[in-house]
Amino acid sequence: MRGKVAFTLDLEEDAPPFLRTWRGMEEGLPALLELLEELGIRATLFSTAEAAGRLPGRPEGHEVGCHGLRHERLDRLPPAEGRRRVREATERMRRMGWRPRGFRAPNFRPTAEVLDEVRRLGYSYDSSLALYKPYPGLGPPGLPEFPNTLPSSILRLPLSLSRRILGWCVRHLPLTVLDYHPWEAVEMRGVRWDLGFSTGETSLRRLRELLLWLGERGVEFVTLGEMLPSL
Ligand SMILES: [Zn+2]
Repeated sequence: MRGKVAFTLDLEEDAPPFLRTWRGMEEGLPALLELLEELGIRATLFSTAEAAGRLPGRPEGHEVGCHGLRHERLDRLPPAEGRRRVREATERMRRMGWRPRGFRAPNFRPTAEVLDEVRRLGYSYDSSLALYKPYPGLGPPGLPEFPNTLPSSILRLPLSLSRRILGWCVRHLPLTVLDYHPWEAVEMRGVRWDLGFSTGETSLRRLRELLLWLGERGVEFVTLGEMLPSL
């Protein structure tokens, strides 16, 4: 099977904006980092400045990006405030030594102003768009764009289904960008059905088998930054 896959993790509170707990970061992230190390996969970690501040340091061995200040919907803020939050998030992460290379707007909801600010701040690329969420009228962002390919819930489906969907993507797309969250590796109750189903042990097991299956079929795992020269 030809194809490249960028596995990305969004570090944030549990199932935003529905919960303000941090079980995913506390219990899910260590399990995920262990899994990635076992499989030899370098991921791209988009972290909110708030989530980064809860960790003792930047996770080793992975590329990092910024995912906003506190997972706020930037498209619902006045343009100047959206820009200010992106600046503050970036400054905070840089002060913590995270050196974010790329940017991803929370909920894949950027604005033209946010993307302009991202470019001005010197980011190498953006990953704020998603193929399943069209944004008419945004215009070219002025920096390389890696849109997310599939909703993260696809990775929690039974393997017979997720393999079929992913198999199609890696055969037909030059790059498949996968998105996943630490809170999906922890059982989430009391949230919207699509956010909560098969979370916890089931999700971790399915993710492990899916990543193994892709690797066994010759798929190459890349970080988004590694794809820059080929754009
Ligand atoms: Zn997010």
